[in-house]
Amino acid sequence: MDGTGYGFMVDTYCDAIHELAQLYSIASDDQVLGYTMAHELGHLLIGPGHRSDGIMRAAWGRQELESLKRRHLTFNAWERSAIVHQLRMRRDTSRVPIEAGLQRPQNE
Ligand SMILES: [Zn+2]
Repeated sequence: MDGTGYGFMVDTYCDAIHELAQLYSIASDDQVLGYTMAHELGHLLIGPGHRSDGIMRAAWGRQELESLKRRHLTFNAWERSAIVHQLRMRRDTSRVPIEAGLQRPQNE
């Protein structure tokens, strides 16, 4: 976590993702990985903690994988609002514009 209390790095575990995908045989490893990454990005933007349902549920089972497969596993309205708020706040308080942080290679 940085000084704001929000994290800046997450991990995903491919073995656990593969095991979950194999356990239910509903969604592919790639689909579970993508939604897991979205879940982790949710943590980076709205903080720790989980909800009782949806993409921010702590442990996914058959119901979540079926929703994931149908592309119905989503952030709830509060989570979407919090994510948009965080992105706007970070954009507005960023001291360095994103393009200024990119360095062009010296030999171009
Ligand atoms: Zn989580």
